[in-house]
Amino acid sequence: MASDFETRLRAVSLRVTRPRLAVLTALRDHPHVATDTVIALVRADQPTVSHQAVYDVLRALTDAGLVRRIQPARATARYELRVGDNHHHVVCRSCGAIADVDCAVGHAPCLTASDHHGFVVDEAEVVYWGTCPGCATARTSQ
Ligand SMILES: [Zn+2]
Ligand SMILES: [Zn+2]
Ligand SMILES: [Zn+2]
Repeated sequence: MASDFETRLRAVSLRVTRPRLAVLTALRDHPHVATDTVIALVRADQPTVSHQAVYDVLRALTDAGLVRRIQPARATARYELRVGDNHHHVVCRSCGAIADVDCAVGHAPCLTASDHHGFVVDEAEVVYWGTCPGCATARTSQ
């Protein structure tokens, strides 16, 4: 799998470094995690990597399009490897759990504006909000 990440890094002209590979691996194994979690995962494997280095790696990977950054309202930014497919997210209001929802249309913008006001619209930001199964169970058993 590391060699696949090396290929992806080279494809966007980024040098292959151990912190970059560690961040990509962490996001492969743990989609939709916040920066703090990425730092903890990377440092569990490479204790010498600084917080700042992880921030820098996340920014470089996001800028290069290898990582998608999402930020639901009132939540901290989360990162994932699934890019370029315009998928959406369902977010639990209680615990913040996030899951992927395939875009029914498959490309942006997947909603037609009733009035585009002359703008060239290229994206509709869709976030589904609700209660995850775990929180729903906890609520009914109280
Ligand atoms: Zn929940
Ligand atoms: Zn996602
Ligand atoms: Zn959609």
